[in-house]
Amino acid sequence: MEYRIDPKTGNRLSILGFGMMRLPRGITGTDQEKVTAMVGQAVESGVNYFDTAFVYPGSEVATGRALAETGFRDKIFLATKLPHQQVRKTEDLDRIFAEQLKRLQTDRIDYYLMHNLPSVTLWQRLVERGVIDWLAAKQADGFIGQVGFSFHGKQVDFLELLEAFDWGFCQMQYNYLDVNYQAGQTGLKTAAERGMMVVIMEPLRGGKLAVGLPAKAESAFKAAEPGVSIASWGLRWIWDQPEPTVVLSGMGTMEQLTDNLATAATANPGMLSQAQHDLIKRAIDIIEAGYKVPCTACNYCMPCPHGVNIPDCFTAYNTRATQGLIAGMSQYFSGVGMPNPDRYSGPDKCQACGTCERKCPQNIAIIDSLKEVKKHMEPFWTKAVKLGVRIMMG
Ligand code: SF4
Ligand code: SF4
Repeated sequence: MEYRIDPKTGNRLSILGFGMMRLPRGITGTDQEKVTAMVGQAVESGVNYFDTAFVYPGSEVATGRALAETGFRDKIFLATKLPHQQVRKTEDLDRIFAEQLKRLQTDRIDYYLMHNLPSVTLWQRLVERGVIDWLAAKQADGFIGQVGFSFHGKQVDFLELLEAFDWGFCQMQYNYLDVNYQAGQTGLKTAAERGMMVVIMEPLRGGKLAVGLPAKAESAFKAAEPGVSIASWGLRWIWDQPEPTVVLSGMGTMEQLTDNLATAATANPGMLSQAQHDLIKRAIDIIEAGYKVPCTACNYCMPCPHGVNIPDCFTAYNTRATQGLIAGMSQYFSGVGMPNPDRYSGPDKCQACGTCERKCPQNIAIIDSLKEVKKHMEPFWTKAVKLGVRIMMG
């Protein structure tokens, strides 16, 4: 495992951080046994940065249990996030934080983030509710280490936010498709120049840069380095740069963890050759030509009050665009419950209420995009499929 230094604290952090957002699931929810096994394996292999959030369903509880069961709490740095939209009065800060300590079975949070802070305006809303004094008191008493924010908004807002407070660190989306998107490379470099540790999230765009690349891009990567995973290309592209401190990967299986550990064992700035950079550039061109909707499957738009499975609609639509009709349609049929009318969660259910669009960090025009999904994923013949299955089911 390679390590990089948090410039504000001198903490030596593993370049691979464990994002506790997409945990393995069993029939009744999070599969705790697998989570604990993966956390144990990660720490034993050198991972020492774990990132969760109040609003990730079941994540803080599962993370706390895994750290308690392995006994590894004191070996790692723990990051979690304040759901700032839920803070209506100063007392809410204490209530939420106390709940987080309880869930995580710990007495301190090493890295505490304002979750998905989109602008200075919303930071000011928190300031009016006393967050600055509250954070200072918590830091003075040893309950919080560094204070930061996570970000999915526009670059101009990111740059303003950097100036709005004496942040210890920040967390931003970054991958080879997002150089000029959201905070982007300019945001990354600006934060690093300010002496901030930068944590990278969505390095593989919700897994889309690992599984489901267009066949042409995938075979180009495989031909260049036959024994190396597709995910490794995306991670190495980031670690090739000196500015990111920790790269979070939302690992859901032991296989993903093992693969990422292998990549992180030798990843250093400047490791990629010009030929490797050229290959990634070629893959970017292929991918961008193929995707219809820039959805990262982050789930922030969910749940839809009318039951639309928004990310699965877009994932299947993009799969169809890049991997063909059969792959896309089979993903769509299982994802949105077609043709079972009781499980159906496709675009027909959309009432255009707009709730999801206000939450989407990628600023996707979800309502219009769902109409596109409807048009392309539910052509006339899907009615015949539905009817046929209904007849078969009696
Ligand atoms: S706009 Fe449509 S998809 Fe979005 S939340 Fe409303 S009903 Fe659901
Ligand atoms: S539509 Fe937006 S909010 Fe919803 S999953 Fe996709 S990227 Fe996330």
